[in-house]
Amino acid sequence: MVLLHMATLKDILDHHVAEAAPGLYEKLDRNRVRCYSCGHCCPIADGQAGVCKVRFNRGGTLYVPWGYIGGVQCDPIEKKPFFHAYCGALAYSFGMLGCDLHCSYCQNWVTSQAVRDPHAVVSPAGVTPEMLVREALHQGARLLVSTYNEPLITSEWAVAIFKEAKAAGLATAFVSNGNGTPQVLEYLRPWVDLYKVDLKSFNERRYHQLGGRLQPILETIRRLYEMGFWLEVLTLVIPGFNDSDEELTGMAEFLVSVSPDIPWHVTAFHKDYKMTDPENTSPETLMRAAEIGRKAGLHYIYAGNLPGEVGDFENTRCPDCRELLVERRGYLITAYSLTAEGRCPRCGKQIPGRWDTVFRRQITDHPYVPRRPISSDLISIS
Ligand code: SF4
Repeated sequence: MVLLHMATLKDILDHHVAEAAPGLYEKLDRNRVRCYSCGHCCPIADGQAGVCKVRFNRGGTLYVPWGYIGGVQCDPIEKKPFFHAYCGALAYSFGMLGCDLHCSYCQNWVTSQAVRDPHAVVSPAGVTPEMLVREALHQGARLLVSTYNEPLITSEWAVAIFKEAKAAGLATAFVSNGNGTPQVLEYLRPWVDLYKVDLKSFNERRYHQLGGRLQPILETIRRLYEMGFWLEVLTLVIPGFNDSDEELTGMAEFLVSVSPDIPWHVTAFHKDYKMTDPENTSPETLMRAAEIGRKAGLHYIYAGNLPGEVGDFENTRCPDCRELLVERRGYLITAYSLTAEGRCPRCGKQIPGRWDTVFRRQITDHPYVPRRPISSDLISIS
């Protein structure tokens, strides 16, 4: 891997591009285009970029990010978080740059806001799909994950990598804000196995503050489920922002209306980026959110980011007989008793998810940045 310190972000955005996938944009009159890679569905004039600032129209053609990464990290899959897929697996995670929202509490703001915020300094690296997959396999990964920036806006590059990953037997995943469209989900369906959506609020006004709208996110959640992606939903519970009983109930009841089997992660906020006013989320608030989910009828609710402080809400139990199936503390799996078919060993209930036939020892229970360079090959962006 070569760090491209000398290049400006504009150089990278201008030179590391490819034409958008045919299904993800249409040509309009007067050299304008419309992008369908996220729920903004931007009409873009010649010479302009979309809201995300990384997809742009040059001469009536939509160009999109290609051939670089903003960073990589090896994460336990529990960090993404996926609790009903390949428990204990190593998730080789990469990000690009940019986002279609601008959340003031973003915990990945260095990569997501790199093209908007001059304080976000990153060192992108030129890579190929083959390099990433080779390194993921070397690290012992079970899956490749597009994360850290909003993967929907860089879908073409993720798919190029995922094609290579699938050929090598790896699973694939998106960690996304869920601001999708029918077009982008159709495009992703053959190549993405697991999909995590951040449901940030159930309030239209709040979503406007973040730069989005609630409706496309709710529609995307419903579509993802109906299309057969393995879906888990996360809500970062922020005191004073989205933690009222009414709002949490709205989110939980919406998820139940799609399926009570969708795992819902309610996780603790820590002061980050520009949002430093709210207090950090307490264990009591998180457990109140989890209880609301349970009362609404969800079968699998997890409280995250406060290991050891949220009682039984880190564990997976059989919703029928309450047998303990997966015991966790933070990202660490401390016990696992699902059968090879993903059933409860006591009552035989099929537990929804994408389970390995055997639980393999965890390679790590904490994230780390691989020390080994991805490749010695040089890729110049000039
Ligand atoms: S990805 Fe979204 S924000 Fe970016 S150009 Fe396309 S529709 Fe607009």
